[in-house]
Amino acid sequence: MSYDYERVVTPASGLRLHLNENTAGCSPAVHAALQRLTRLDAAFYPDYTAAIAACAARLGVPVDRVLLTNGLDDGILALSVAAMRGSPADAPFEAIVIVPAFDMYASCADVAGGRVIEVPLGEGFSFPLDAVLEAVGPRTRIIWLTNPHNPTGQVMSRAEIERIAEAAPQATVVVDEAYADFSGETLLADDTLDRLRNIVVGRTFAKAYGLAALRAGALVAHPATLAPLRRIVLPYAVNAAAAAALPAAFGDTAYFEWYLDQVRESKELLYAAFERLGIRYWTSATNFVLARIDGDARRVIDALAARGVYVRDKTRDPGCAGCIRITAGVAGDTRAFITALEEVLCGAV
Ligand SMILES: *Cc1c(COP(=O)(O)O)cnc(C)c1O
Repeated sequence: MSYDYERVVTPASGLRLHLNENTAGCSPAVHAALQRLTRLDAAFYPDYTAAIAACAARLGVPVDRVLLTNGLDDGILALSVAAMRGSPADAPFEAIVIVPAFDMYASCADVAGGRVIEVPLGEGFSFPLDAVLEAVGPRTRIIWLTNPHNPTGQVMSRAEIERIAEAAPQATVVVDEAYADFSGETLLADDTLDRLRNIVVGRTFAKAYGLAALRAGALVAHPATLAPLRRIVLPYAVNAAAAAALPAAFGDTAYFEWYLDQVRESKELLYAAFERLGIRYWTSATNFVLARIDGDARRVIDALAARGVYVRDKTRDPGCAGCIRITAGVAGDTRAFITALEEVLCGAV
């Protein structure tokens, strides 16, 4: 079984709706901060004080609970290395992944020497609480939860997360909140991380804040839980441009709110179009929508790409036959996608 990360095309032009990126770009305030970087800023190892303070303030947690990472992917690798340290070759430690899932969980747990235990989502992509609890065993070292879930856009309840964290004290329970900016739900708002110290929350500033190319994410947990992770994430994992971008991004709340509004509008446009076209879709708490194309989904994906419109092929994901995932970004981009989809489905050349 190979758990390689699926490397997808990243065309420089065209309408990229396949990677859940911010289709408007970062805030102009971020652009200005990057332009203010000096030659010495490039030459000196970065100082993270301002970036960490801004991030902690944005997330509403003390600074000693924040570990900045080179994108959340970097945090996922660090979590995997920490969890799988000392994994015996003959009876490896286990990582529970709820599938379909974000590729990096299985990929990183695998390269770190762990064994991947896949638990499928339930009927209608419901959260498989009982199956996850049954999969927990003495060798479980990490459990990957994504809230809201990628690629389905569905949310899980706080009670479900807490049940799992209580049932697996020997494991790190990662709650990947990559899309929490869109759902508005987070475990960081109360004392959960004090009560359940085996939980680590993952955040990325790639999606809502449009910093995917700069690489900026964070792991958030009780300081004692973060300590072993701080030994793994490299001291200068985050580059100076990302460090300068974070305070600027968090400072421009008007831009952030504007973008969230665009995403909400785009989702409504997508739902309405799918209803018109008789396409099954799942309402989403994120900035993307999963939809099922009956018939030849691959042909639709290719025909859209031929028109310069890129959507994510999810047809091979477990339980996702015929499914595509579309980023909901700026409303104008979404309208362009809908026009292209209608052309493709109506057989126009
Ligand atoms: C995009 C995404 C990430 C990775 O974010 P980066 O900060 O770009 O590395 C992590 N988890 C999920 C679920 C994602 O969709």
